[in-house]
Amino acid sequence: MAAAVFRSGLCRIFRHRPSLGATALTFERARYTSRAVEKAQFIWMDGQLVPWDEANVHVLTHTLHYGLGAFEGIRCYECSDGRSAIFRLKDHIVRLNNSARILGLQCPYDVPTMIDACIETVKANQLKECYIRPLLYVGAGEMGLAATANPIRLSVAVWPWGAYLGDAGLDNGIRVRTSSYQRFHINSLMTKAKAVGHYINSILASIEARDAGYDESLMLDVDGYAAEGCGENLFIIRDGRVKTPPIATVLEGITRSSAIEILRAKDVEVVEERFTRDEVYIADEAFFTGTAAEVTPISSLDNRTIGSGKPGPITRSVQDEYFAAIKGERPDRSDWLTYI
Ligand code: PMP
Repeated sequence: MAAAVFRSGLCRIFRHRPSLGATALTFERARYTSRAVEKAQFIWMDGQLVPWDEANVHVLTHTLHYGLGAFEGIRCYECSDGRSAIFRLKDHIVRLNNSARILGLQCPYDVPTMIDACIETVKANQLKECYIRPLLYVGAGEMGLAATANPIRLSVAVWPWGAYLGDAGLDNGIRVRTSSYQRFHINSLMTKAKAVGHYINSILASIEARDAGYDESLMLDVDGYAAEGCGENLFIIRDGRVKTPPIATVLEGITRSSAIEILRAKDVEVVEERFTRDEVYIADEAFFTGTAAEVTPISSLDNRTIGSGKPGPITRSVQDEYFAAIKGERPDRSDWLTYI
């Protein structure tokens, strides 16, 4: 059923983008990030749980036209003991609240209420594991750019979602290409906000990579330094030392901070400093982090094999610790989990 829905979705994509041949390669790669959403039962909208098919908005919803809004991507995992836990829920909701502050949106809910909304939605849908998508958006009312009287609305949807860059990507690493699209300047859009409209930049880069037969893009910042993936932070390892771009030009990723904590707890040196694409080419290891992508090894950039081309020991150890933490197997990391 899911496969059939997906296939019909893919046909629609090809109809609009006829240059794409329906090769097995592009089919496989496109599949990783653009699967049809598997319906759950309820979506939380402005304080109420609404049946999935009735969670609709008016076509003059302001965010739909201009992109001013903020969202989060959060995961709830089934732990080894059979309970479910949401990973770093409070950190995500604080970031959502900060995004609203940056964008000048008067969020009608405080952080504890938004945390409760996520928990309530997961519980109501009785999913052991799911992706959680809170979305803060500007509702209908006034049109025009400087609308001030529109309601600010919040929805929370959940759905089952597997490995974003594919299970094979998690196991073997992914092929990445430097994008022709730059990450935006810090004074064009603001990188600390996870804003709806920012994702035009990521979508263009994401489609560009997949059209060219790669798994993901690496975007450079406006000065030409390596910044991040379309929905992931970047790490490289050279001579046992880990580097990740500083947060000035990238999203302050929650998985990024988890990976840094994991590495530092193992006494691995982690520095937050700029580096160039050619430093990625000659790195011993590289990986992406993100809520959706988790910890995904990078096997090559622009067809230059990174290290042995296989996930290296430091990448593997971050992956192992991260997956153990999300499964509730690390008591010292239990503060990362909100049990349902
Ligand atoms: N960078 C960008 C552009 C993203 O969209 C994401 C996904 N939220 C990340 C990095 C990773 O952030 P996190 O680990 O908080 O999911």
